[in-house]
Amino acid sequence: MRILVTNDDGYLATGMQVLAEAAAELGEVQVVAPDREQSATSHSLTLHHPLRARQMETGMFVVDGTPTDCVVLAIGELLSERPDFVLSGVNHGQNLGDDVLYSGTVAAAMEATILGIPAVAVSYTGADDRDTRLWKDALVALLRQVLREGFPRDTLLNVNLPAIPPEQLAGVRVTRLGRRAYMGSLTRARDPSGREYFWIGGGESRWWGGEDSDFEAVRAGYVSVTPLHLDLTNYRLLDSIRSWDLAL
Ligand code: MN
Repeated sequence: MRILVTNDDGYLATGMQVLAEAAAELGEVQVVAPDREQSATSHSLTLHHPLRARQMETGMFVVDGTPTDCVVLAIGELLSERPDFVLSGVNHGQNLGDDVLYSGTVAAAMEATILGIPAVAVSYTGADDRDTRLWKDALVALLRQVLREGFPRDTLLNVNLPAIPPEQLAGVRVTRLGRRAYMGSLTRARDPSGREYFWIGGGESRWWGGEDSDFEAVRAGYVSVTPLHLDLTNYRLLDSIRSWDLAL
């Protein structure tokens, strides 16, 4: 089994090291990762400048692009053989609910899915990503089970680890995406020379979702596993929108 590991926190991230170590117990690992932090780059692809890939002594490729670029380059050019499986993470920070739409970690797994390779995105909801080290054995066990199942087509798994030591883990829950709203996360201010600027980030967030949501699972001390697919069609509304009889 050949496994490609990538992330959006950059090639030096502890979480990715942990994921690569866990993957190494399941197959032959190749890492292709961004050369710097690329969090919240979503599914962006670099089109307007060249990309460079540097191979490190460890064999890892470091790319000056986004997580999506990494997956595209890895599968298209860098790897001698197509991977059987793609793992992205372990992200430093949660990717729950609406976060998945901004996440570079999830986007890398989405890109693999588009290219027809089963993928899992993994994120750690705690504040200190060094704590991901504690999760290595649990990740090996979880990934082994996932690999054993026939992986569904056109679907990726979004895994979030709760911010607790693994020995306190309540279990694993298969969940749906919750919702999240940010408050006060847009700052408008002036720089030292008096020019106005805006800064997105910080502030507070509030989430909501039912018992079966990803947020509720990690809050209750479970590993959350959410199957995601890339078809954004709102099937429930198809008939209703058709009844509008839109015409030109
Ligand atoms: Mn990240």
